[in-house]
Amino acid sequence: MTNINNIIDYINGSNDFVVTSHISPDGDNIGSTLSMYYSLKKLGKNVCYVLDDQMPLNMQFLIEGVEILKSSECDMKDYTLISLDCGDRPRICVSDEIKDNAVKLICIDHHASNEAFGDLNYIDVDASSTCELMYNVLVRMSEVNNIDFIDAKVATALYTGLVTDTGNFAYSNTHASSFEMAKELLIKGAKKDTVIQNVFQSNPYNYYKLLGEALNTLDIVDGKVASISITKEMLKENAISFNDLDGITPYTRDIQGVEVGILIKEKKENEVKVSLRSKNYVNVSEIAKVFGGGGHVRASGCTIFDSVENAKAKVLEQVLKTI
Ligand code: 5GP
Ligand code: MN
Repeated sequence: MTNINNIIDYINGSNDFVVTSHISPDGDNIGSTLSMYYSLKKLGKNVCYVLDDQMPLNMQFLIEGVEILKSSECDMKDYTLISLDCGDRPRICVSDEIKDNAVKLICIDHHASNEAFGDLNYIDVDASSTCELMYNVLVRMSEVNNIDFIDAKVATALYTGLVTDTGNFAYSNTHASSFEMAKELLIKGAKKDTVIQNVFQSNPYNYYKLLGEALNTLDIVDGKVASISITKEMLKENAISFNDLDGITPYTRDIQGVEVGILIKEKKENEVKVSLRSKNYVNVSEIAKVFGGGGHVRASGCTIFDSVENAKAKVLEQVLKTI
């Protein structure tokens, strides 16, 4: 496994970069990619931020003024592709052309299902977030280059990924190092209140109408497995985008006695995205893998090409085997 120093040496010796992350962007995805993007710019490198997906509403504050390209708009040549917070190559959210034409692929990630798909890899499955790994990279990179990469903007981006991936420092992936990092980021000027208010306290009214409808579908099996289903019609009626549903997932898990929570989201006809969460002992990454997905021990996901009802039945069958 590559260490941080190899990645920093490589970055220092190269000029052109494309930075990106996984599909269905979230706080850690955007926070870690942005921190790399800003730091490469500070180093004077040519860098494009490419992501072929829609950014969630509650992350708009982070990317204001940042040029995020679609793959078709990126004309970079002889570049290194840096993939952040992405557990496997197919989920890297750029075109196959951009993946295939990269001179090198650097992978920085914390997914349990990551099989080190980069040419250079910095993977730590125990880390709270990819933002924590980026924090480690930038601390070292600041020492090596004698430049302070963690300014207020970068600190705010990293803080966002840290709070979203740890559920506000609540999940089991929250370690002493996560609090130490939080402290340092606040000292560096991370805008803590801006992050919390934008990420968790700015839901549009329609979101609550959708949430109400979603909670009406709540189904609990054996007191231990809870699921919520959201159809594309529910999204359309309430004018809520598919990528703005992250806040609903925890409702499935946070019920007394429930070990596994399942959120079933219909993307299109016969294409359903499933989010899995567990509280104590079920490894949901293994369940997601059965359907070609992956993720972490306590948070994972997969796509099932079937109806909402059938997808729910298939996932429930697997979950009930493990509980
Ligand atoms: P979420 O349920 O919030 O979409 O994702 C939970 C975690 O599982 C995230 O870390 C996400 O990257 C990962 N994940 C979600 N869907 C998939 C998938 O289809 N494949 C893989 N490999 N990981 C996924
Ligand atoms: Mn992450």
